[in-house]
Amino acid sequence: MLTRKKSPSSKALTMLRRKLPGRVYTDTSSCYEASLDNLRLSFLPDAVVKVKQAQDIGILLKLAHSNGIAVTPRGAGSSTTGSAVPVNGGWVLDVSALKSIRIDTVSKIATVGAGVVTHKLQQRAAARGLFFPPDPSSKKYSTIGGNIACNAGGMRCVKYGVTRDYVLGLEGYLADGSRVQWGLALKKYVSGLNLRDLWIGSEGTLGVITAASLRLLPMPDKTCTAIFAFKTEAAALRAVVGLLKAGIQPSILEFLDRQSVTCAEEFTGEPIFSGCSGGAILLIELDGHKSEVRNQRKMLLSFMSQIAVYQHVASTASQAEKIWQVRRTCSQSMYLIADTKLNEDVVVPIEKQAELIRYTLQLKKEIGLATPTYGHAGDGNLHVHIMYNQSNKDQAHKAKIGIKKLLKKVVDLGGVITGEHGIGLAKSPFLPMQHTQAEIAAMRAVKNALDPKGILNPGKIFQSFEVWNHTPSSVQLPWDHHKKINTN
Ligand SMILES: Cc1cc2nc3c(=O)[nH]c(=O)nc-3n(C[C@H](O)[C@H](O)[C@H](O)COP(=O)(O)OP(=O)(O)OC[C@H]3O[C@@H](n4cnc5c(N)ncnc54)[C@H](O)[C@@H]3O)c2cc1C
Repeated sequence: MLTRKKSPSSKALTMLRRKLPGRVYTDTSSCYEASLDNLRLSFLPDAVVKVKQAQDIGILLKLAHSNGIAVTPRGAGSSTTGSAVPVNGGWVLDVSALKSIRIDTVSKIATVGAGVVTHKLQQRAAARGLFFPPDPSSKKYSTIGGNIACNAGGMRCVKYGVTRDYVLGLEGYLADGSRVQWGLALKKYVSGLNLRDLWIGSEGTLGVITAASLRLLPMPDKTCTAIFAFKTEAAALRAVVGLLKAGIQPSILEFLDRQSVTCAEEFTGEPIFSGCSGGAILLIELDGHKSEVRNQRKMLLSFMSQIAVYQHVASTASQAEKIWQVRRTCSQSMYLIADTKLNEDVVVPIEKQAELIRYTLQLKKEIGLATPTYGHAGDGNLHVHIMYNQSNKDQAHKAKIGIKKLLKKVVDLGGVITGEHGIGLAKSPFLPMQHTQAEIAAMRAVKNALDPKGILNPGKIFQSFEVWNHTPSSVQLPWDHHKKINTN
């Protein structure tokens, strides 16, 4: 009788099952779930491995390394760039079960598993009067490991900085399964080369994070939230420069262009300001000690009363929450325009944002596609979208041309093509637009040194991948469930 010879990868999978019993899944639904992230392009892996403890990762990587199997680390799969998609197949390494949280209230340091959900850490810290500021809008789903691997930002960066600013130490594994520790739960550490900072933002291409020690701050005791409307986008973005120059230091400073405001209003069925619909808006939060917030509020309102066409300060926590709900509908509400978006998270110098927004409006006319834009104006980090219908070839072609022009403009303005989402698959064609050959060669040399067989998250950052040539899956992801809001 003929017996079929097993391929090296199926032999390795059999060994993996033996070494990690009950953790390896090859059924269709587990593989499909792990095949995509928020970019919604699906590439099926051969298996999903849901580790229960950090040591499992060492075992898996040793096997993958000796058999040359691709490994894609995964937290919640909320990446918007395809960075968590197993584009080359192989094994998805799901670390979301590593959920330990330990908080040292004396040193104000949290030591947490890579699978801890960002919001959960914030809640646990808050219960001890402490504060973990990085707050991507996906915080109810995203994991600390994913936040570190993408160097996630969010709304509070204008005052508090990005995830990197809170990482003291990392524990994890190299591609060959060796356990490493970069830094400790200590406030000072300069021993050896700083590989911790190389891992931060490396999108799972240089190592797998199992745990992190994170700096916490005392919880601010007062906040004040306000919303301001402007006749034009450029006026709103000039106001950003003005208020920062005037010494106002918001903890959140968000911008919505008129296209985003219209989408949010249509989505919710309510005007954001009654009697003043369709203006560009700024959403602002101040935080800190009571007296500091009082002074800052006075300065802010006196500054804005000269330039804003409408303003409203939330008088209760629930009114403030309604303001933030407007912001949170932005991403979802723009699907009212078309079924597909190219979603960029560009950064330009703060003073150049008015020029960038004028360019997005000019581009809208030129390519005949909507370009709704909103984002973290206090950091110069705007989320520019180009909306098109996937089945309309002409629109898809124009979207591709539009995105190239937009990113070129960003680089010409002295900016960067991504401020918080990373390169992944979606921005890989534009890496040479941002970096010289020498810079890319140096990055590749680091990658080769830490992952000589190229098994960790292959196909990302360095290989050009054209997302517009692929059809996204029409799948409902956990963060797609937005409630309609009542802005009265
Ligand atoms: C609705 C929505 C809003 C968002 N808002 C923001 C925002 O405001 N700011 C922002 O910065 N981002 C935002 N994002 C993007 C995304 O949520 C963040 O990038 C987040 O940090 C990803 O975390 P995750 O656990 O989902 O990681 P995943 O998507 O699972 O993975 C992301 C990358 O990290 C790698 N990775 C994951 N875990 C590990 C690990 N333990 N070790 C090594 N590598 C690992 C993966 O291989 C992949 O490359 C948003 C996404 C959505 C869907």
